[in-house]
Amino acid sequence: TDIQELLLSRIRDVPDYPEPGVMFKDITPLLADPEAFNALTDTLAELTVRAGATKIVGLEARGFILGAPVAVCAGVGFVPVRKAGKLPGATLSQAYDLEYGSAEIEVHAEDLTADDRVMVVDDVLATGGTAEASLQLIRRAGAEVAGVSVLMELGFLGGRARLEPALGGAPLESLLQV
Ligand code: 5GP
Repeated sequence: TDIQELLLSRIRDVPDYPEPGVMFKDITPLLADPEAFNALTDTLAELTVRAGATKIVGLEARGFILGAPVAVCAGVGFVPVRKAGKLPGATLSQAYDLEYGSAEIEVHAEDLTADDRVMVVDDVLATGGTAEASLQLIRRAGAEVAGVSVLMELGFLGGRARLEPALGGAPLESLLQV
């Protein structure tokens, strides 16, 4: 579609970042373009409303940049999922495996309740490890998963398959697939 073409044209490929052999998808040109940023926000907000979500969970850090305007646009709340040690209140923590080593993310437990249906928003789905851990946090907080919505899915990393069990039938929406 026209919107997909616009979005794709504003994503910059950066070779060998953050390490040799990786082609990093840089979304900062998209953020700097008001037409593209607005189109992305509108599209993600539509998916959020259609899924009947009550909250957006944004994944640090680009999921904050995208998730916050989407939440305002969709009329739902915003809840940050942060790397361990950044949130001041009582948190739930979830560890997950990386290619080398592991990572841990956290959410403020009281910001998600049994009444919430939660849409996870991030820029890129790569291996799916971060999104999978965020779904586990949402479920452990007692809330329901409305889905995962990302700008771009890196299909060759198999994130969709990894995420499937944690989605429990909820949709994974990616606006662009590479
Ligand atoms: P995963 O856990 O799916 O392997 O990694 C996803 C996380 O890493 C996301 O939060 C995403 O922002 C970041 N990420 C991984 N690869 C890229 C990339 O090529 N471009 C951008 N912008 N983010 C990436």
